[in-house]
Amino acid sequence: MSDRRIRKIVILGGGTAGWMTAAALAKVNAPPQFDIVLLESDDIGIIGVGEATIPTIHWFNKLVDLPEPELLRETRATYKLGIEFVNWNGDGSRYFHPFGRYGGPHDASMFYHRWIRAHLAGDPDSHQDYSLTTRAALAGKFAPPATDPNSIFATLGYAYHFDAGLYAAFLRRRCESKGVRRVEGKVTKIDQDPQSGFITALTTHRGDVIEGDFFVDCSGLRALLIEGTLKTGFDDWSHWLPCDRALAIPTERVQDPIPYTRSTAHAAGWQWRIPLQHRTGNGIVYSSKFSTDEAAAATLQSHLDSKPLADPRLIRFLTGRRKKAWNKNVVAIGLSSGFLEPLESTSIHLIQSGIAKFLSLFPTRDCHPETVEQFNRVFDADVESVRDFLVLHYHRSAGRSEPMWQYCQHMALPDEVAYKMAHFTRTGRVVLTTDELFREASWFAIMMGQGLRPADYNPLLDGISAEENRSHLARVKQQISAALGSMLSHEDYIRKAAKLP
Ligand SMILES: Cc1cc2nc3c(=O)[nH]c(=O)nc-3n(C[C@H](O)[C@H](O)[C@H](O)COP(=O)(O)OP(=O)(O)OC[C@H]3O[C@@H](n4cnc5c(N)ncnc54)[C@H](O)[C@@H]3O)c2cc1C
Repeated sequence: MSDRRIRKIVILGGGTAGWMTAAALAKVNAPPQFDIVLLESDDIGIIGVGEATIPTIHWFNKLVDLPEPELLRETRATYKLGIEFVNWNGDGSRYFHPFGRYGGPHDASMFYHRWIRAHLAGDPDSHQDYSLTTRAALAGKFAPPATDPNSIFATLGYAYHFDAGLYAAFLRRRCESKGVRRVEGKVTKIDQDPQSGFITALTTHRGDVIEGDFFVDCSGLRALLIEGTLKTGFDDWSHWLPCDRALAIPTERVQDPIPYTRSTAHAAGWQWRIPLQHRTGNGIVYSSKFSTDEAAAATLQSHLDSKPLADPRLIRFLTGRRKKAWNKNVVAIGLSSGFLEPLESTSIHLIQSGIAKFLSLFPTRDCHPETVEQFNRVFDADVESVRDFLVLHYHRSAGRSEPMWQYCQHMALPDEVAYKMAHFTRTGRVVLTTDELFREASWFAIMMGQGLRPADYNPLLDGISAEENRSHLARVKQQISAALGSMLSHEDYIRKAAKLP
């Protein structure tokens, strides 16, 4: 049995995906059972975008023992309570997708029905008034979720924005101190076993030959091993997610950083704004079928709120996923496994998801087909659920009339999206499968924000009177207002948490 054990893992690529994978492997490989080598090329560099996360990042930070104060200091991170969507349903429209729950600490999914009932009876309050996370974000305040389940602070949720370059460098230092060997060089030759097709070695332009039992392809959009060598194939989803280009540009810090990402819709795409401690990350994501690069650059530049620190950088991509993220003795983690576009900041989550699934299905050298199939099944389900969530944003955009949005409004939907929308509008229910990444609060936020309206609520709520329901909502609102009053500003909270002077 022991001669089937993996003795050497080679990671190709040192972007966010490569170093996150190395950090996770180094953590579980104690005492060492296998060598970990990471090969990257400074000449090629990393994509250098990917600065907003979602709350699943806490899982990874815990796995690799990454203390928050260090993360905040080393990567100049800020907190992220959610995303504000501006103009997504026509110019002048705005709504917030919070990471926390709506309602009071014990409301759970009944909150939505309580609010819908009051709303159908004419109550003018927005559902957003009942989200502490939303209200804190828009007020520029921050607090972490309380561990006491009876506290209104238990409804909060958060993630981080960080500098992608600093994050990769930070993880690299930690990995190297834990025994990960880094090799510098550009891969120019890839050897395969003639019988199995398994990859056996990578050779760099300097002549270094790096052999391995298992290879993690973190080579980014190049997908050098999984596609370049193994020709695994790609499912093109651009008919659902039509954006295929981005222009990224950093700008100076303008004010105290806000605790959320802003996404502003434009004629043929949307613009992101990610505030960090030392600068702001900006970019426009657009469809080359509906916009020229010049028009996108002009739109981006006319919507910046501070001085650019560099020229805009063009990134081309195709939305979709690799037909198999694990093929033979190669697993693709990060952009090499596919890309769905950055609207809900899900790529770093999918990196973690790939890492978690790989660790739980850690193979022997032969990579049994059942192990590989299980990985691909569960990873595919994760990617598809993210895709469906993104498709909803584009499709439900009735307030926008430009050709790209009209295309999205009329495109044929994945079945699951149509199913969820039908349930919600008829009954106010958000129907989910067990493993979906985005839960009720997220679907509710986007469905409401993009203009879907439920016609009814859960009939079980008729067990209480309309007056009792209204009083409950008023109590929650009052709790939220009191909580807001006691929260620190986002800037002050960062200083305190990062132990900055
Ligand atoms: C416009 C845009 C915005 C994004 N925003 C977000 C966001 O807000 N949140 C989020 O979660 N994700 C976001 N993403 C995705 C995110 O950027 C990536 O998931 C993340 O950076 C991981 O990239 P990577 O490590 O797979 O690839 P890369 O960073 O490109 O790294 C690839 C590595 O492979 C190496 N390499 C390639 N070829 C060779 C070779 N021949 N020899 C040796 N080494 C080689 C390179 O040197 C590099 O080290 C965004 C992506 C885009 C395009």
